Amino acid sequence: MASQTQTVLVVEDESSIASFVSLYLKNAGYTVRTAANGTEALTQAAKGDLTLIILDLMLPDIDGIEVCRRIRKSSDVPILMLTARDEDVDKIIGLEVGADDYLTKPFNPRELVARVKSILRRATPDRREKESAQLQHGDLKIDAGRREVRVGEEEIQLAPKEFDLLWELLDHKGLVLTRDQLLERVWGYTFAGDTRTVDVHVRQLRRKLGDASPIVTVWGVGYKVSPARDAA
Ligand code: CA
Repeated sequence: MASQTQTVLVVEDESSIASFVSLYLKNAGYTVRTAANGTEALTQAAKGDLTLIILDLMLPDIDGIEVCRRIRKSSDVPILMLTARDEDVDKIIGLEVGADDYLTKPFNPRELVARVKSILRRATPDRREKESAQLQHGDLKIDAGRREVRVGEEEIQLAPKEFDLLWELLDHKGLVLTRDQLLERVWGYTFAGDTRTVDVHVRQLRRKLGDASPIVTVWGVGYKVSPARDAA
């Protein structure tokens, strides 16, 4: 099998961070391009040949959130956001912005590479067992092949990781899954990572699904899906 070049775009105005990240990615076998501002990032993204984008939140012209939002209008290219502040996390992976994952600065470059690999593994259709599968829980219906979620007749837009997390929980109905288990199953981390990611995604799911959310917090342990109420 011919090895296909995977191109990662690093969008970061601080050249020391950009070159440091580039170096690690090149060593991991990726082709790397860089952009020092949002405008350049959008130009590069429009070419449509990127495998993944690493996008810093703080950029001199258009901020990373707006760049991400604009890219998402026409592309599903995986995006990993870099942020200096924890508070931005809700926004980044939340409604309308649609980044796939984030890292808070300062970060370990090996973790960055691990996340990139994990996102790309998830972005490829390797979850064949889900292709034609559908799950239902009360008014909530999930179609894995179409990656569609409905509450009653209304379609709910979920970010990719929100979808995967919801699926994982529903697929283990009645079982409590710990944050570390969810990180490993949904994000593909094989080490204890930042479990706050799980909490943020659960919060988004609850916000989007409203009363139809089946997710129950099990204090001190993790999350589970409650037994389905009978559909009205
Ligand atoms: Ca920056």
